[in-house]
Amino acid sequence: MTTRINAVPHAVPAEEAAVPFADCHISTEAQTAALRVLRSGWVTTGREVAAFESEFATSVGAECAVAVSSCTQGIELALRSLGLPPGSLVLSSTMTFCGAVQAIVHAGLQPVLVDVDPVTGMPTRSTVRNAVRSFGPPAAMTLVHWAGDVADVPGLADAAELPLDRVVVDAAHALGTYAGSTPIGSGCGATCFSFYATKNLPLGEGGMVTTDDPARAEWLRKARLHGMTADAWRRYLPGGGWRYNVAEAGLKANMTDLQAAMGRAQLAHLPSWQRRRAQIAARYDDQLAGLPGVRLPHRPDPGTGTHAWHLYPIRVQLNGGIDRDEVIACLSERAIGTSVHFIPVHRLAYFSQAALIPSMGLPGADVLFEQLLSLPIYPRLTDRQIDAVCTAIADLAHQGLTGKGTE
Ligand SMILES: *Cc1c(COP(=O)(O)O)cnc(C)c1O
Repeated sequence: MTTRINAVPHAVPAEEAAVPFADCHISTEAQTAALRVLRSGWVTTGREVAAFESEFATSVGAECAVAVSSCTQGIELALRSLGLPPGSLVLSSTMTFCGAVQAIVHAGLQPVLVDVDPVTGMPTRSTVRNAVRSFGPPAAMTLVHWAGDVADVPGLADAAELPLDRVVVDAAHALGTYAGSTPIGSGCGATCFSFYATKNLPLGEGGMVTTDDPARAEWLRKARLHGMTADAWRRYLPGGGWRYNVAEAGLKANMTDLQAAMGRAQLAHLPSWQRRRAQIAARYDDQLAGLPGVRLPHRPDPGTGTHAWHLYPIRVQLNGGIDRDEVIACLSERAIGTSVHFIPVHRLAYFSQAALIPSMGLPGADVLFEQLLSLPIYPRLTDRQIDAVCTAIADLAHQGLTGKGTE
């Protein structure tokens, strides 16, 4: 980090102003914890996992937490725990990560893609009802708190005529999201978190499923490790028996103690990391508000919740015909990394066949996709880097106004 006074950002040479899109910060405490586990002689699922589960459950206000190898596997397990007949319909937003819909397929169920409001990036009661009208009543739905914003879980479950325990929340973006004053993690069938390298609590890989139903947690605990009778790992402890039984086809989706020990250490940093994410979002807001052709991310109305700011997705529709892809290219020339979350699932070849898509298409997601642009946001992003990103976008927005190609 430099202590130099802010230079005029666009005058800073590219290599100095470089702003990577993402950052995977493994704190020194997590590194120490990893070493402790590596030296302990027990690296796979064990005591650290049990401790991480209980600390995580407390932090999101859930009864139970079951650690898994990824959020994707967590969603598949959560759906399997519903015990639905094969081929049952499961609603999912099309504006999500492909893995979340792969999970529906791998659970033996039929994904039905739901359109989104281009302003919030999430389904509405009306888009949910359209999907239900097109294909009939679903057996379950997955709901993503897109970008870390608050999805209306009760309202959308109601529109789908589903009880809340048939809703699997994809909280890959929502560690740190609050609905009202309640953290995301309870109140529905299951909630699935991701600890992938770019997420708000990065471990590299890993996931957690929370639920208020101890019987479901018990089922998940077996199903994540080959369906073996609970606490199979205790077999290897002194006094542990070698016998086990298998009641059904489980997955291999357990978390290791190495990840869990890191997770416990990372969790202690989460509140300060979340405060920094909110500061970054506010700084972006200040500098980008009012720029021609730039729309700020949607956020919860005051008093209705807290955004986790996993992503900061702006919408760009610049004058002068500069499209989103050109904005990405121009920013990249200034060594500023950006991304797009997401390519709507219905536009991916496999899902255009394998998923059910209403005949009127998913126009809200298509419109949004053309304009979407995720800016860098992570706790170690500096004010100077934020300012460099904003200056670059402001230059493009104003260049668009004066007409591209006139220089
Ligand atoms: C990252 C992500 C996932 C997948 O998480 P993994 O832990 O990598 O499996 C699922 N859904 C959404 C919305 C994501 O962004």
